[in-house]
Amino acid sequence: MQNFEAFKELLGSPKRIAIITHPKPDADALGSSLGLAGYLKKKSHTVQVITPTDYPKFLQWMDGNEGVINFEAEGNAAKAEKIFQDADVIFCLDFPSLSRIGEIGEIVRRSPAKKVLIDHHLEPELFADYTLSKTSAAATCQLIYELITDLGDVDKIDLSIAECLYAGIMTDTGSFRHSNTTKDVHLVCAALIDKGVEISKVNRLIYDTNTEERMRFLGFALKDKLVVLPEYRIAYFAISADELDKYHSQTGDTEGLVNYGLSIDNIVFSALFTEREGMIRISFRSVGNFSVNEFSRKYFNGGGHKNAAGGRSLVSLNDTIQKFLDVVPQYKQELFISDK
Ligand code: 5GP
Ligand code: MN
Repeated sequence: MQNFEAFKELLGSPKRIAIITHPKPDADALGSSLGLAGYLKKKSHTVQVITPTDYPKFLQWMDGNEGVINFEAEGNAAKAEKIFQDADVIFCLDFPSLSRIGEIGEIVRRSPAKKVLIDHHLEPELFADYTLSKTSAAATCQLIYELITDLGDVDKIDLSIAECLYAGIMTDTGSFRHSNTTKDVHLVCAALIDKGVEISKVNRLIYDTNTEERMRFLGFALKDKLVVLPEYRIAYFAISADELDKYHSQTGDTEGLVNYGLSIDNIVFSALFTEREGMIRISFRSVGNFSVNEFSRKYFNGGGHKNAAGGRSLVSLNDTIQKFLDVVPQYKQELFISDK
């Protein structure tokens, strides 16, 4: 952060602080928000975490979860808008531009509060008064840990905060399997373990709380919905709203599905298309040099990281798949030279 001393001074006296993260928060988004909130409360600030939408049950064990305001839930929009308007400081965590959070982005932009962006996605928008954007960081939770350390407050990180931060780093590195798993990642996690984090407990809370229906859905998706195109080294799933309904799919139930495509021998590009709330939500994953961030930006109104990105489409599921199949042939060469 360029103007770190001014930032430190800003937080030097009690402030009204709002924290916002991206829609459908994952463990890094929610963990960084609640971890930071826990720390700021210890520094005598008044803190409110606001999420644009709901989030999966397997994240709701995090300390501070019960105080989160879901903007989308009935009656909450006006309340949240007032909190943003009255805030002294708004932290924007784990997303790179205000357009990513839709209408809330404009509310944040209009607020007189000082804005702080802490993120690890590509191509950050320079809207904030204080920006900590590090695309080499594996997770926003890693940046929160480093920031608290740089503020000289590592002793303020208690077990609850440490669990939130560990969860985000664990999931954003794919359980320490992706290429973003650096020495620094392990050093931060070692420090969090020193704070008392039990690795097996956090793993269980995130990964081993499946409902039977989610497991049945996974079986259905792998058996009937997986399409493999070895000629392009691509695998994809296209799942309709009716199919999600049939398995009573909840927020978070499709999380991780896209990775199964990527685990297939010789596949370097995997996609998941799901029809939800009148649009098609897309997850892209790749290994090697192929940038799904660029691909998603170019064709599907999205973005993210080089090897993990998301996007959306406003035409039907079939038309979205057709568009995907129409554009991939031009990447055949690129996909074939990608390392696996
Ligand atoms: P996921 O596929 O897990 O939803 O998202 C993968 C990555 O892409 C995450 O870092 C997420 O923040 C980002 N991402 C997901 N959806 C979108 C989107 O619609 N726009 C942009 N810019 N990024 C997205
Ligand atoms: Mn993240």
